[in-house]
Amino acid sequence: MPAPERYAVIGHPVAHSLSPRIHALFARQTRQNLSYLALDVPPERLAVQVNDFFSGGGRGLNVTLPHKQAVMSLLDGLTQRAQRAAAVNTIARHDAAGLLGDNTDGVGLVRDLVDNLHLALRAQRILVLGAGGAARGVLGALLELLPAELIIANRGLERAAALAHEWTGGVPVRAVTLAALATMQFDLIINATAASLQGEVPALPPDVVRSARVCYDLAYGPHDTAFTRWARSLGAGEVHMGLGMLVEQAAESFQRWRGVRPDTAPVLRALRAEGTRP
Ligand code: NAP
Repeated sequence: MPAPERYAVIGHPVAHSLSPRIHALFARQTRQNLSYLALDVPPERLAVQVNDFFSGGGRGLNVTLPHKQAVMSLLDGLTQRAQRAAAVNTIARHDAAGLLGDNTDGVGLVRDLVDNLHLALRAQRILVLGAGGAARGVLGALLELLPAELIIANRGLERAAALAHEWTGGVPVRAVTLAALATMQFDLIINATAASLQGEVPALPPDVVRSARVCYDLAYGPHDTAFTRWARSLGAGEVHMGLGMLVEQAAESFQRWRGVRPDTAPVLRALRAEGTRP
């Protein structure tokens, strides 16, 4: 058998990453001969390590914090969705075109919402909390679902306003302060802030969460995040964490690299059985 083709996720820190486990499950399911490692790469080593990985025969990388923006300058091209997200989470090496950067976070979130959770979001009202890399990465895919309106709320209004300003299309996109949400109602609230990573919840008026049909935290863990715990305690309709998004964005990367689409349902089941709840 030939040597397995090499893939990896680069981040700092990265030891906690579930990506090696997810891609090992995809490879076994689809009978692909590949290896997938987690590589801890500090920012000052990024350019050298990416170059070493690909010049040594590596085929593809996933990119996680803090490298999603910095890695862009090392690539030969970007997909349209990576350009719009201004961030890369997937790199594929093409023999002719070189290193191509993609962003699969948005499509991963939408697949989880629509295919796994069976949410119909056309003409619905969506609130995105946060205006950082993750919010930027998922906005385009959410707008393609043609919601009635998409509101971005952030601690710092300026950052949310700048992000909202970038989107001109059929769907109205507006930025508001967290306090201004007190009188608003949403079908779907997406927490794309990093607050859960600090065990905190964004300073939202509780009523906006209480009245939401669905609350979704991009963060995930074996137990509720601070946000999903709070939303459940307030009696929000459905409450979900972002493990499904993680698996779906990984499946999109895998398909881009290998030309085969893995079935995500058994992989999600396996991860949940191993102790990582949705
Ligand atoms: P980021 O670029 O650092 O952005 C952080 C955002 O969170 C900013 O809008 C920041 O507001 C806000 N924020 C931070 N702490 C806050 C707090 N205590 N209260 C209110 N707002 C707060 O981070 P990111 O890359 O966008 O990541 C955001 C989250 O998405 C993380 O939890 C990450 O794990 C998750 N994520 C999940 C997946 C997945 O596959 N499930 C994929 C990507 C990201 P300011 O602008 O005011 O500072």
